[in-house]
Amino acid sequence: MPNPALSKTATLRAIPSVDQLLRTEAGMELRSSVGITRLTTIARQVTEEMRRQIQSADLPEQSKDELLGEAVEKLQAICKRETGSAIHRVINATGVILHTNLGRAPLSDEARHAVLEAAGYCTLEYDPTTGSRGKRGAYAEELLTQLTGAEAALVVNNCAAAALLILTVLAGDGETIVSRGELVEIGGDFRVPDVMSNSGTLMVEVGSTNRTRLDDYRGAITGQSRLIMRVHPSNYRIIGFTAAPELQALASLAHESGLFLYEDAGSGALDDLSAYGLSDEPIIRDSISAGADVVSFSGDKLLGATQAGLIVGRHEIIDRLRRHSLYRALRVDKLCLAALEATLAAHRRDSIEEIPVLRMLALPSNSIEKRARNLVEQLAGDAAIEATIIMGQSAVGGGSGPNVHPQTALIALKHHTLSADEVELKLRQSSPPIIARIADGLVLIDLRTVDTREEPDLLRALASVGNSLSASPSSFN
Ligand SMILES: *Cc1c(COP(=O)(O)O)cnc(C)c1O
Repeated sequence: MPNPALSKTATLRAIPSVDQLLRTEAGMELRSSVGITRLTTIARQVTEEMRRQIQSADLPEQSKDELLGEAVEKLQAICKRETGSAIHRVINATGVILHTNLGRAPLSDEARHAVLEAAGYCTLEYDPTTGSRGKRGAYAEELLTQLTGAEAALVVNNCAAAALLILTVLAGDGETIVSRGELVEIGGDFRVPDVMSNSGTLMVEVGSTNRTRLDDYRGAITGQSRLIMRVHPSNYRIIGFTAAPELQALASLAHESGLFLYEDAGSGALDDLSAYGLSDEPIIRDSISAGADVVSFSGDKLLGATQAGLIVGRHEIIDRLRRHSLYRALRVDKLCLAALEATLAAHRRDSIEEIPVLRMLALPSNSIEKRARNLVEQLAGDAAIEATIIMGQSAVGGGSGPNVHPQTALIALKHHTLSADEVELKLRQSSPPIIARIADGLVLIDLRTVDTREEPDLLRALASVGNSLSASPSSFN
């Protein structure tokens, strides 16, 4: 009979040292990916954990090699988990176009190129023709004024920052009047009442949740009033017995009383997108011509660029915003401006095809179906997985068009032995991860949000879930 106490002592002595662990082949590799300091800390954790485990349980005796192998595996697993939280590419097969968790709008090729170009030294605040200092964001601002008809424009970090800046500068010393029907929360912690209180303005609520009239606004105007704010409810809808004054009427009321009208348009559209069902999104140009003095909207929603808060409006207002010290804290960097300029330039060319968000929105379901059939055919040689086409719906997402569900063709997957959850997990664990959704026990792939260039990666992942190769013509030779 082996003596358990003795074997425990032997096993404890066989635990690799931190140094030994770091000098293994895996240790050397990990050193270059996480750095020696972090790796040493993890290696120490791993060996200490092993020591504790062996001390507290009666495990069978293990050899030096076995323990080293085990330690290396643990080291690799922890490092993998840590680097797994880094940003990397995924394939969005959910059909949700503006998927906030997946980075909202995917950039156009031009915008990606512009980001790369700006990554080094660039003309951020430099004019090579004169050799002197240039204005940051000048071209993006110029494009914004051309596209919206506004006098001037300013770019900040996101739409929440835009609202904070506008409310602080224009109404921080007074009152802002807003309808009770517009005190909304938009995902990601943007709440109108909170932004109001952060800005220092006193929020004056008028009307009711479903109905607010012009007279409600008029009755709330005092000597302390500075702004009337109109908020687009975005991912929230009040339907039925509702009323709200037209923007133009609100603008007239504001101007009669010496106030400004501010519209937070949220997603905002540069063009009329009602052909794609998006008839509720304010068109920025229309808001400006209806008399709004300042309008804010997001860069990474329907505009299809990076995260940014776009502000357009009257010269006088934009100048005040730009001069305020808060602007310095909220301004954007060169990478953001580069992507924004490229995307706005595509909007000016009316080039829907170039801007992924608009291209995806415009995709007719029959062209999605054709691509889906093609993929399913290529998977047909796979015995373990059954792929069929069913009709379904995509979504706009990102707080835009909550009622808009473009018709789509879905690839529905059923595995002969794995559950839907297991298939979805395997897809998520592929490289790049494929993000799909599950409904009625089926894993659903919506190609609306998958670029055609991503299809080979998708096919490879699907084939490997089926655990057999796809039926490429060469396999029949
Ligand atoms: C989305 C949204 C915001 C927040 O925009 P971010 O760019 O995400 O900060 C603010 N207001 C409205 C009305 C929105 O729809």
